[in-house]
Amino acid sequence: MNDILPGATPIWQYLERQVKAVLSSYGYDEIRMPIVEQTELFKRSIGEVTDIVEKEMYTFDDRNGESLTLRPEGTAGCVRAGEEHGLLFNQTQRLWYQGAMFRYEKPQKGRYRQFHQIGVETFGMSSADIDAEVIMLSARLWENLGILDAVTLQLNSLGSNESRQQYKEDLVTYLNKYVEQLDEDSQRRLKSNPLRILDSKSESTQLILQDAPVLSDYLDDDSKAHFSRLTELLDQAGIKYEINTRLVRGLDYYCKTVFEWVTDKLGAQGTVCAGGRYDGLVQQLGGKATPAVGFAMGVERLVLLLETLDAVPESEKNSFDLYIAAQSKEVQGDVIRCAEMLRDGISDLRIRTHCAGLKNINNKARQTGARLILLIQQSESGVVGVLWNGTESSAQIPLKELPAVVAQQWAIVKQG
Ligand code: ATP
Ligand code: MG
Repeated sequence: MNDILPGATPIWQYLERQVKAVLSSYGYDEIRMPIVEQTELFKRSIGEVTDIVEKEMYTFDDRNGESLTLRPEGTAGCVRAGEEHGLLFNQTQRLWYQGAMFRYEKPQKGRYRQFHQIGVETFGMSSADIDAEVIMLSARLWENLGILDAVTLQLNSLGSNESRQQYKEDLVTYLNKYVEQLDEDSQRRLKSNPLRILDSKSESTQLILQDAPVLSDYLDDDSKAHFSRLTELLDQAGIKYEINTRLVRGLDYYCKTVFEWVTDKLGAQGTVCAGGRYDGLVQQLGGKATPAVGFAMGVERLVLLLETLDAVPESEKNSFDLYIAAQSKEVQGDVIRCAEMLRDGISDLRIRTHCAGLKNINNKARQTGARLILLIQQSESGVVGVLWNGTESSAQIPLKELPAVVAQQWAIVKQG
């Protein structure tokens, strides 16, 4: 579980701001759920024999002896909340949430025990148009962040629960012939969760899978039509994708569309965003049958990707734009006053004042990396400011004229 330090939070904030802007342009509503839920909820939704429920949950009894779990993902809680507050039946909802998730995993680059997701869940819409919308929305976000070229969209259809069941049986029959050659995990999954074997990283298992039955051959007509409508919409939108018939996702509740945005820039933990359709979940959790599609992105991995690609604009790496300091002790008192005056006049300028010793002040101010530096001085004609924009400094500016001059320089600097 990591501290996210001041050196990194500007990047997080930048990412969150970009996400919120895109979500708002698609008309999505925010929902905030608690961080703990009853353990039963996750068992019933994610599935008893998934990695998450089998070995990754932080579960504890509260003082009343009730079993609670720190949420390992957001979908279950979102469905629970939607159901509890009557947001789902006969309605359409486009929701998003963000926050910490908890999984007891082996920590490594891109995989942590407390991590953060921004998730999107839509309810009440069964056509492939909404599958396409949530994918387009994510593609637009990558575009806006300047990382579209670094990610690829992997797409698959899991079909209906019935068609998937048939496939599962045939897959197990096939794999049973090679039990001895499968890796240990896959041997175990053969009984518990055979579809996950398709995900196996083991080379020998992948070799065996080459001749295994293929999920796409089992799709029911409705799922086939749904998938072709989706690919048609993505084609129209110019969104590239790869169909990966081995993509199954780790959670039980998916059907029809599943997708992942994957990058090769982060090593083994390359999935930055993953989701799909889960038409059966609401009913499974006690509600009326309600179609649903959603995804969750991993904020840590996206931050890592932004850093790796150096895709964060320079201006977003600092939490202030203008640094203001006194050149000598006698004008120290003017610094705060002057900063307030500038804040009154220029609402989007982020100002940090120098409130410490003045030794070496010119260098100190420069080392802050601020794009504008304002030094307050005592001149013969009174108190003045000298504004430094990175390449040149202004003449002495009387305090009265400062807001106008700074505003003008700020406009130039902002344009880059
Ligand atoms: P993975 O195959 O990488 O374990 P997953 O299928 O378990 O992923 P999901 O439950 O689909 O992941 O979560 C969606 C996204 O959340 C992932 O694609 C990833 O970006 C992020 N994520 C999942 N688990 C972690 C973790 N332990 N640490 C950091 N990010 C994570
Ligand atoms: Mg996982």
